[in-house]
Amino acid sequence: MADYDVIVAGAGVSGATAAAMTGKLGKSVLLLDRNSALEPGKKTVWGWVCGDAVAQSHISFVQKNLGNTFSESALGLKVDGVMALSPDLGYKLPFEGEGYSLERPVFAKSLFDEAIKNGAEFRGKFSVEGPLIEDNKVVGVFGKNEKGEEEKIRAKITIDSLGIASLLRRKLPENQYIDKEIDYEDLELTGRFIYKTDGSFGDQRYYDKKNALIHLNQQMAPGGYGWVFPKTGGRVNVGLGVQHKSLEMRNKKLGTNDNLKSLIEKYVKWNPLFKNYQLDNSDKNGEGYWSVSVRRQMEGMVYPGYIGAGDSMASANPLSAGGIGPALIGGIFAGKTAAIAVESGNNGLEGLWNYNVDYVNHYGKSMAGMEVFRIFLQSLTNEDIDYGMKSFITYEEAVEITYGRIPELSLTKKVAKLVKGVGALKAFKNLLWTTQRMKELNGIYADYPKSPGEFPQFKKTVISIIDEAKARMPAGPI
Ligand SMILES: Cc1cc2nc3c(=O)[nH]c(=O)nc-3n(C[C@H](O)[C@H](O)[C@H](O)COP(=O)(O)OP(=O)(O)OC[C@H]3O[C@@H](n4cnc5c(N)ncnc54)[C@H](O)[C@@H]3O)c2cc1C
Repeated sequence: MADYDVIVAGAGVSGATAAAMTGKLGKSVLLLDRNSALEPGKKTVWGWVCGDAVAQSHISFVQKNLGNTFSESALGLKVDGVMALSPDLGYKLPFEGEGYSLERPVFAKSLFDEAIKNGAEFRGKFSVEGPLIEDNKVVGVFGKNEKGEEEKIRAKITIDSLGIASLLRRKLPENQYIDKEIDYEDLELTGRFIYKTDGSFGDQRYYDKKNALIHLNQQMAPGGYGWVFPKTGGRVNVGLGVQHKSLEMRNKKLGTNDNLKSLIEKYVKWNPLFKNYQLDNSDKNGEGYWSVSVRRQMEGMVYPGYIGAGDSMASANPLSAGGIGPALIGGIFAGKTAAIAVESGNNGLEGLWNYNVDYVNHYGKSMAGMEVFRIFLQSLTNEDIDYGMKSFITYEEAVEITYGRIPELSLTKKVAKLVKGVGALKAFKNLLWTTQRMKELNGIYADYPKSPGEFPQFKKTVISIIDEAKARMPAGPI
């Protein structure tokens, strides 16, 4: 006998959203988290570790489904967009459209309050340790309650919103849909600080009140990037992500021993914005480290009795590492799918499959292509990136790529003649190869399997293209 229709494990961005949606659709839902109700969505002991940037379109999607969920104080600062700068700071290309620099703890609380308002029951200080499995179906979770006692809770459907290190995903029975582990090379090790500045600094290559800035630089942030995102009141969210392998290669070549923390310190020193600044440690959220996945989302995100949403499914955008939007979208669709499946009494693979289809159609369809572009970027040196941003792609083409659409690279033929040097030529050829593979992957995802039977061939094809990209364009930061 199930105790609830739905258990949502994890009350972060995706979990609170899923619980709010399930509750709105009239199903009984239990929301579990290891934090108390006073700190919803706090990821780790380090706080709500995030860059806090999210596109307007994702917020609108939530509002459309849940109503007016967010206060102004939750949304924070409105920004025009994200700008990626070349290593020599000579070129800027836009990334996604307008959005917000969120006040993350307030934002998380808004979603949590929405879930409670819609009838979700919350149990805090509950540590989820794994799924309850019966006859190859997830029938609930087990874990330790606030008294430290082992407890089992049963539900018709369990939504996994435990984040990247999810113990539910990692303890699923062996299956072809969801990878239990995320490859280390597909993770970005990230860290960030929230600093208070006087907000008057004027050089927009380093700080822009109206745009979130991304600094591409394979020496400063090997295999990743540094960021300076403006917040209200002259505060900034400054951080950096690296790929472990690229960092090792870079250290070896330069004879250095840098780690994530030392790289962030150097990045802050490098930026002239940080002359007079201090840590804003409100909510003890001023400094933190955590990982983000930059692979495509899991090819399949359901298992009998189980739906995964957000970081537990590696759903952050492989190019930008933006995971808030995908977590919101996953939460909405997971809540809807769970409610429909409870209604129909079909919580098996077939009953939940539509979640994959809806998610892929709405957002996930271009993520595998983005992953190939990320692999391409990680293979380039600073000189290649400088040259490429100047010569290979136009402003408009860059916008297309960041939305996952594939430009025709109209200037291709002309530019090819101009390409100078062996390195640049190789990079250019790889760019062409990359856009072809992106196109191919987008086509494959446009035809996402409508039922589990078609899945094995789909997955095989996707993985073969990703593997080919990794073999063709190995990391080469320096
Ligand atoms: C440094 C950094 C910068 C980032 N910058 C951005 C950005 O600017 N924009 C963007 O869009 N994305 C960014 N991301 C990614 C984004 O933060 C995540 O994608 C997003 O938080 C995912 O939400 P989620 O709900 O899936 O998981 P989480 O936010 O990780 O929530 C998981 C929840 O589960 C709970 N939990 C975990 N394990 C257990 C357990 N065993 N038992 C009970 N509860 C548990 C946690 O307490 C937490 O409440 C960044 C990430 C990092 C690390």
